[in-house]
Amino acid sequence: MKRNVTAIGFGLALLIFAVFTVSSYLSMAELTTIGKLRSRAFSAIERLGSLSAQIASAEIDKNNYIITGEEDYLVPYYDGALRTVDGELEGLGKLFADKPDQQQRLDILEPLIRKRFANFRESIELRKKSGLNAVVQSGLITEGREIHNAVNDVINRMFKEEEASLAHLGFLTMENAKGLMSKQLLGTLLSFTILYGIFYMLNREMHERKRAEEALQKANKDLSSYVNELEQRNREIELLSEMDSLLQASATFEEAHTVIAKFVQDIFSKESGAVYLLNEPKNTLESIVSWGDIKPGEQVMGTDECWALRLGRIHQVDATRPEVICPHIKHALDAAYLCVPMMAQNETIGLLHLLFDSNWFSYSEEVRKHIIENKRRLALTVAESIALLLANFRLREILYSQSIHDSLTGLFNRRHMEQLLERELHRISRKGYPLGIIMLDIDHFKRFNDTFGHEAGDMLLRELGACLQRGIREEDFACRYGGEEFVIILPETSLENTRQRAEQLRKEAGHTTIIYRGKSLDAITVSMGVAAFPEHGTTADELLRAADTALYRAKEEGRDRVVAL
Ligand code: GH3
Ligand code: MG
Ligand code: MG
Repeated sequence: MKRNVTAIGFGLALLIFAVFTVSSYLSMAELTTIGKLRSRAFSAIERLGSLSAQIASAEIDKNNYIITGEEDYLVPYYDGALRTVDGELEGLGKLFADKPDQQQRLDILEPLIRKRFANFRESIELRKKSGLNAVVQSGLITEGREIHNAVNDVINRMFKEEEASLAHLGFLTMENAKGLMSKQLLGTLLSFTILYGIFYMLNREMHERKRAEEALQKANKDLSSYVNELEQRNREIELLSEMDSLLQASATFEEAHTVIAKFVQDIFSKESGAVYLLNEPKNTLESIVSWGDIKPGEQVMGTDECWALRLGRIHQVDATRPEVICPHIKHALDAAYLCVPMMAQNETIGLLHLLFDSNWFSYSEEVRKHIIENKRRLALTVAESIALLLANFRLREILYSQSIHDSLTGLFNRRHMEQLLERELHRISRKGYPLGIIMLDIDHFKRFNDTFGHEAGDMLLRELGACLQRGIREEDFACRYGGEEFVIILPETSLENTRQRAEQLRKEAGHTTIIYRGKSLDAITVSMGVAAFPEHGTTADELLRAADTALYRAKEEGRDRVVAL
């Protein structure tokens, strides 16, 4: 469409240019014609003047001769006037060839001139023959004057005609020149206007094309980022399912943390980020992995430093709304970020934090919206998976802990004690170290129960458990063997050292008192049997039996004592 308009515009400009050129050419041709006519009029005037002058000069010569009779006066008359007058008449005849009016006058003039010259000749002849008086009396002079007047009259009219013609031609020249100038001016103006219009149009079209190209480039860029994003999403889904199966198969928290660290970083490789887990006792979140632009100062945060944790839902911020930035972000935000709380059974267990890089604003708003929507969805899925798995782990851990501990005292239970003993025996026997065992029983506990009640008895058991736990080394194991009986395993401890430790514990147990319903209850005593590897056996059974025998002996010997076999 635009191309057509341009072509038409150019054509029109050319046409106008051609029309005005032709018209100017015609005007010029007309001017030339007028010029020719003018120069012909000038020639005619010149010739008429010359004719008049020749006739006058011939008259003067003739008169001089008639008055003086001197023939010398006739020389120029014969040499000049007579000859040239013919030439002038012939010239005028040619000049007036296409001017019938002047031609007609010339036709009248020519015989008159001839007649005039005939009058001259007659007068000269008469003077020659009969003298001056004869001429004066002849009437030739009067006749000559009449002819002279008639000639002058015709010549004057011809003069006037030529002058009028000249004036008219002058006027035509002026008009034509003006017309020519206006035409040229108008033609030039019109052509320029059209050419400028075309230039303006082409220029605008060029701009529009440039704009269209830019828009296309942008659309292409957006499209390729869509495609990239799609591929990325596929990869993310693969990684997510792989992470899920690996997390399911993880046996410990440490293993699970390693899997989370690796996969979350891979899934969100285009972003920076961190996975934080709640450290409940400290009320902080500590990162188990961070990558990209997460600063060292951002590895730990308080639970109140994140809007997502406070609100219990995903928190999304971009640099255009800086007023809601979480306090745990310690750097200037130049793009956008997401905080996704990891929740399990309505409890926060951690946080997934994602930070978009500074390329963020190079995408169009639409693409940004699209990306963040997908990332949100993915981050929620990832956070959910991690939270669920970690919660399962925690549950498993709790169940496991419950399965190996005694619920009243918190010490290991009998079953686990037996396993521990087997394991420790195996370990130290290889190394050639000893191992001590203390078996403890509260003296007359039935009586205590009977006196203060079962609840107070429970309190005492709990207190004694804590006392035993306090009184042993970290590498020792205190277990509730059953009822009011306890077993302590002391790896890498000799029989004598075990006995001494038992003695120490006995004293401390004797100081264990509890306050029940505002009353301080009676102190208790304990009896202990000590056995040791390798002296009293090499298996758990043998050693426990030996310790039990020793305990029995301590009871027998009067209680509140330690007996080693
Ligand atoms: P001694 O060992 O000195 O021979 O006397 P004793 O009274 O401690 O002996 P016995 O083995 O007959 O009694 C043990 C008592 O411990 C029986 C029971 O009432 C009490 N007992 C066992 N388990 C628990 C418990 O979990 N809580 C409370 N409160 N009492 C318990
Ligand atoms: Mg007992
Ligand atoms: Mg007892």
